[in-house]
Amino acid sequence: MAKISSSLPVLNVLSHNGAQHGYQYPTAGAVGILKNPGLHSCSECGLIRAFSDRNISSIPLPREVLLQDRMIQYVKCHPESGPAWEPAGLGCSSPPAGSRLAPRLFGGNELEQEGTGHSAWLGAGVSPLVLIVRARSLLSLLCRPSRKGTCRCGPCARRAALAGLGRDYLEHITSIGPRTTGSPENEIVTVRYLLEQIKLIEVQSNSLHKISVDVQRPTGSFSIDFLGGFTSYYDNITNVVVKLEPRDGAQHAVLANCHFDSVANSPGASDDAVSCSVMLEVLRVLSTSSDALHHAVIFLFNGAEENVLQASHGFITQHPWASLIRAFINLEAAGVGGKELVFQTGPENPWLVQAYVSAAKHPFASVVAQEVFQSGIIPSDTDFRIYRDFGNIPGIDLAFIENGYIYHTKYDTADRILTDSIQRAGDNILAVLKYLATSDMLPSSSKYRHGNMVFFDVLGLFVIAYPSRVGSIINYMVVMAVVLYLGKKFLQPKRQTENYPKDFLCALGITLISWFTSLVTVLILAVFVSLIGQSLSWYNHFYVSVCLYGMAAVAKIILIHSLAKKFYYVNASDQYLGEVFFDTSLFVHCVSLVALTSRGLCSAFISAVWVAFPLLTKLCVHKDLKQHGAQGKFIAFYLLGMFIPYLYALYLIWAVFEMFTPILGRSGSEIPPDVVLASILAGCTMILSSYFINFIYLAKSTKKTMLTLTAVCMVTFLLVCSGAFFPYSSHPASPKPKRVFLQHMTRTFHDLDGNVIKRDSGIWINGFDYTGMSHITPHVPEINDTIRAHCEEDAPLCGFPWYLPVHFLIRKNWYLPAPEVSPGDPAHFRLVSKEQTPWDSVKLTFEATGPSHMSFYVRTHKGSTLSQWSLGNGTPVTSKGGDYFVFYSHGLRASAWQFWIEVQVLEERPEGMVTVAIAAHYLSGKDKKSSQLDALKEKFPDWTFPSAWVCTYKLFVF
Ligand SMILES: [Zn+2]
Ligand SMILES: [Zn+2]
Repeated sequence: MAKISSSLPVLNVLSHNGAQHGYQYPTAGAVGILKNPGLHSCSECGLIRAFSDRNISSIPLPREVLLQDRMIQYVKCHPESGPAWEPAGLGCSSPPAGSRLAPRLFGGNELEQEGTGHSAWLGAGVSPLVLIVRARSLLSLLCRPSRKGTCRCGPCARRAALAGLGRDYLEHITSIGPRTTGSPENEIVTVRYLLEQIKLIEVQSNSLHKISVDVQRPTGSFSIDFLGGFTSYYDNITNVVVKLEPRDGAQHAVLANCHFDSVANSPGASDDAVSCSVMLEVLRVLSTSSDALHHAVIFLFNGAEENVLQASHGFITQHPWASLIRAFINLEAAGVGGKELVFQTGPENPWLVQAYVSAAKHPFASVVAQEVFQSGIIPSDTDFRIYRDFGNIPGIDLAFIENGYIYHTKYDTADRILTDSIQRAGDNILAVLKYLATSDMLPSSSKYRHGNMVFFDVLGLFVIAYPSRVGSIINYMVVMAVVLYLGKKFLQPKRQTENYPKDFLCALGITLISWFTSLVTVLILAVFVSLIGQSLSWYNHFYVSVCLYGMAAVAKIILIHSLAKKFYYVNASDQYLGEVFFDTSLFVHCVSLVALTSRGLCSAFISAVWVAFPLLTKLCVHKDLKQHGAQGKFIAFYLLGMFIPYLYALYLIWAVFEMFTPILGRSGSEIPPDVVLASILAGCTMILSSYFINFIYLAKSTKKTMLTLTAVCMVTFLLVCSGAFFPYSSHPASPKPKRVFLQHMTRTFHDLDGNVIKRDSGIWINGFDYTGMSHITPHVPEINDTIRAHCEEDAPLCGFPWYLPVHFLIRKNWYLPAPEVSPGDPAHFRLVSKEQTPWDSVKLTFEATGPSHMSFYVRTHKGSTLSQWSLGNGTPVTSKGGDYFVFYSHGLRASAWQFWIEVQVLEERPEGMVTVAIAAHYLSGKDKKSSQLDALKEKFPDWTFPSAWVCTYKLFVF
């Protein structure tokens, strides 16, 4: 910002937080859009409060919106003159004549008037009441940074400043700190901040629109098939809901959802404050727009998503506006910053994908991600599931996916999110919401339900989408082409030396053997590395996995084929062998194409690409190969034809690793991550090598290649075994922390008569990954294998205060004895009544009071079953392992939690019919801490992320 000098007029803008910004004219981007005289928006901080200026105040401001640039220019040209509106040149960045101009894209009013060019509206005394424009083009035309990457003037500079509005919201929300449900930070401070901003937006809004705000505090319960299944109960949690609709109301609405709560100990910038910031800004832009909406847009800022999707459930099942909703957009994060990926759409409703494809300015979407996510192998879930399953509404699920290493950690801070990311997401969400809010499809969305869509982006440049039915037809046409191509070869008359069918089958066998042995090789390596305690060596340095497993896999494939060439195909011509092996690869991909298509998987399009392009290339270069052999021209053509499938495969593989590598750092103590990664790498190697195997037969020798690969692999292997690659990092630029949960707990076990039979206290330690505590032990010697926690066989979930039912993923835990905890707000649990029902079961009614988060665990004894309960839909849902897990949480205040379970006793037994336990988790405030916990946390090295809290656990038998 320029320094204020006395010779130029100064505009004073009082920002929302009371700070006064002085802007000197001319300062591009300093001033936003004027709506009413005296009201200005500050594009640095985004909000309007007051305005005064010794020169501008004398200008009679029109009631309608003005493009601020003109005023700046006006003042620049006539600093001390009167009020006449004399058009001035736009100075440094004039738009081309005939172009459509937008004063702002994301972050500003969209003023619309088509057609007239810049000279027309400037010269012809066009009323400044209405100014040109359309969002789409201006920034693309004007906002090109100079080559050096700096914005010099006008809209370009303003764009950067305006994306700053979203950033301002983001910084405010994250500065509140971790926002767990039930904490004052979440329930009071954040809610108040959101309401204040919404109020300010309302003040600015165009009279075309109506804004209604509601704070909902729902109570409810549901069961969910996530993490092996469990039941959730919530009381008085918070939703801030804003409805933007045409002045005379709307019958249909599109929902935009974000969550402002965070996990404990994380500022939750990417997950999910940035999405709420983007939504605020989109709300502001839409509400000040002079474009009419046909339908309502409901913005839900939900305050309990990290509580396993409770707030969205409360909204969709209870809020009166929920019945208006025909489609939704959910904004989430599985990483920090970067681009937001559409990783789920539907169910069905192809029109939604089409809406995204045609509206989004920077589309990024993948049906492969959708199918991977919906297969359940990624241990996370989003509100998408709730809207789909409980609201029966179709939608689009978007998430920031980059840098999953720090997702849900203290490193998820606002400064790691580039302003470009906010701008991108804002552009996309604004455009898509606007599209849906004016769409004719929205009101009768159920009519357009049919079928799935194949959709994928091409290198992030554009998205291709088509119905899966069309996809199947294309796929089967490709299969037919292969059948014709191979069929012709199979049926051709045998030559003296060549028996194609036999050679083809042999080649297929050799290919499969090479793949199998390559997989076995990398698995042996991975198991060995895991056994010697060097797992995850590639977690911080990804190239290690490529050098170790990737090279081993390639070397093995080449070895097998080289051996076959040398010993088996002694007399065959290289050219013929090259062709046969090409055909086998084509066949294998064709088989996978048939398999995927027949299973109805949209991801089959990848196999189609991997069959169609090589086949086409082959047919094109066939003659050349026949006449001249594998000469330069042939190779050049061949590589050109392979370019698209390979480029696309590499792009996809990159995305897969970007997503999967971080997940392997939090996938529990049971799955060896090296085995998973090595298998994925072997799979990728098989695919990528397939059309290059024929070169092994065309090449003179493969010795050098093999030696190089083996040498790289061996050196990496030795380095990995010696522990040269430490998995974690605390590097501020790209931290890769090890996640650890520390729960300081006091457990009390009662017997059937209510006597305390055991009481212990300690810090219960859970590592999230396969390396357990092995890297931590040198720093915290008291944590070693002698303090491994032992499963209480008779207690549900081993008698531990699990926060989520992840007991089957993390079986190795540690337990360090410590003094008792004494939270200021102790949890109380009691049996209210025990009744015999007329249908011969026992109904136990309980009451619990305590902190915002509690878990209730049930195990029925032999001879008893749980037949009903007052939770979920009434039918008890078991967790993995057969016990029952209930996740309870409340907002700031809630009455005692009363619920009942009904036990069917088939056989009376001396040990009772049921064991229940309740854990109270203190995730915020004073009760969260203990001096022992703090002391232990202190000892943890900086490359760890210990998330610590206090909890109590009580077990009863009835
Ligand atoms: Zn989230
Ligand atoms: Zn989250």
